[in-house]
Amino acid sequence: MLEFDLIARIRERASLRADVLLGIGDDAALLRMPAGQVLAVSCDTLNAGVHFAADAVATDIGHKALAVNLSDLAAMAAQPAWCMLSLSLPAADGNWLDAFLDGFLALAQSHDIVLVGGDTTRGPLSISVTVHGWVPEALALRRAGAQAGDELWLTGSVGDAAAALALRTTLRTVDPFLAARLDRPTPRVAVGLALRGLAHAAIDVSDGLLADLGHVLAASGVGAQVDLAGLPTSTALAAATSESERWPLQLGGGDDYELCFTAAPAQHDAISAALAATATPAQVIGCITAQSGVRVLAADGSVYRPPQRGYQHFRGHAHG
Ligand code: ADP
Ligand code: MG
Repeated sequence: MLEFDLIARIRERASLRADVLLGIGDDAALLRMPAGQVLAVSCDTLNAGVHFAADAVATDIGHKALAVNLSDLAAMAAQPAWCMLSLSLPAADGNWLDAFLDGFLALAQSHDIVLVGGDTTRGPLSISVTVHGWVPEALALRRAGAQAGDELWLTGSVGDAAAALALRTTLRTVDPFLAARLDRPTPRVAVGLALRGLAHAAIDVSDGLLADLGHVLAASGVGAQVDLAGLPTSTALAAATSESERWPLQLGGGDDYELCFTAAPAQHDAISAALAATATPAQVIGCITAQSGVRVLAADGSVYRPPQRGYQHFRGHAHG
């Protein structure tokens, strides 16, 4: 199979939409922007052996390659619109490509994002995706908007993906919920859109809660207090770990792709209602403080410090 045949296969399966004047097949795509919106653009690469295991299921790789990018659009409160797919493949394997596209295009369809182009080359297995989204300029959620006194919110649960990664090194079978959280993350696109006009700042948790929260705090010139007892914990994680085992995973483990956002306490009920409408659980896990730095407080009010070894081990995992 030649590069040309692979591209033809991708083109056959990609969908079209009225704003895509020209999609896959020319030297560049021609795309029509909706009036009154700006373009949000982001790209993330997944490399075999770094971001996924060399023997990972192709369908999962396809799903995750797009999911991690949709997560960035979600964190900007952007509506997914178009994507580009750059594939570096060791061999022109049509079966692998079909399985990869099963995962990639199923997620694309569920978010109405159209694959409009890309690049296909021979080389070590690597997938680079660029996503484009639409958002009215004033409604984009930036990292720099957090204000002292804001509530600090987190969707879903944290620590599941890091636990799956850790458990996989010692167990043959990992709890299917935890494994799915690592292999097939759910980008919180609907949440990002629902937070337009309600939240002050947002980020997606890809590198670990404290690391990503740190980006928001640095950009906003504020600090935060995080309540350990308030961290949202899945039933599966609670069953698989003790508290002292999971806290470092929840604070430092990456790959969760939840949204961490801040908002005025006066918006609490409106946010609860908006999130309920998207059927996404979310919790207040702390607050934004004028004093810089992050203080993690245990249930008894004492300051919690994650054990350095476990923390660095999981921070050492490379994320998109
Ligand atoms: P060029 O040589 O002009 O860059 P290519 O042969 O690389 O053209 O690509 C031909 C067409 O196929 C272009 O429209 C390109 O965007 C599209 N394309 C190539 N690879 C991919 C891919 N992996 N996914 C989606 N579209 C692709
Ligand atoms: Mg090209």
